Amino acid sequence: MGRETGPKCRQCRREGGKLFLKGERCYTPSCGVSRRNTPPGERAKKHRPRRSQYLLHLREKQKARRIYGLGERQFRIYVEQAKQKKGATGEALLTVLEQRFDNAVYRAGLASSRVQARQMITHGHFQLNGRAANIPSILLKESDIVQVKEGRRGRVKGILEANKDREVPSWLEKNAEQARFQVIAAPKLEETGLAIAANLIVEFYSR
Ligand code: SF4
Repeated sequence: MGRETGPKCRQCRREGGKLFLKGERCYTPSCGVSRRNTPPGERAKKHRPRRSQYLLHLREKQKARRIYGLGERQFRIYVEQAKQKKGATGEALLTVLEQRFDNAVYRAGLASSRVQARQMITHGHFQLNGRAANIPSILLKESDIVQVKEGRRGRVKGILEANKDREVPSWLEKNAEQARFQVIAAPKLEETGLAIAANLIVEFYSR
């Protein structure tokens, strides 16, 4: 299964909560879930599936996959990587997802959504430690510096302005003037603001 390409608000309604897929609109009362938090489709109203254990695990996995905008194959690779790490696999999984280049750009407010961050990265807007970097899946590590390229700063001015009130997690140090940020620590999972039960995801892949 590839990345989700369907209507974004519908994906949020399917998962029963905000996945923050649409950028600025997600933070306004126009958010689809704020207006109507019911599963999409007429059929869903009449035929609510039984909440089996399997379904709970599946939905949690789908939710995380949709939030980070990943395909099934790529997501599974991250789960396998997390299993190799010390400590709780679920936490290791969320940490690795947060470390992604596109996620960090979004978290720092240099993009309004992860989708936009990914697009900006592939279009060559950023430098990583002074070098051009156009791969959204790069995992950032402590002391890495991400900066908008000199000639592209005009284009991100509006984005920075639109996101200026969005809180930047403490593991990123942002310099809005210079359109850059530095990774100063490991991601803090309590700051993600996402209700993901990562242990259920791990159980899904352990069946
Ligand atoms: Fe989801 Fe609301 Fe954003 Fe639509 S506007 S993608 S429902 S968080």
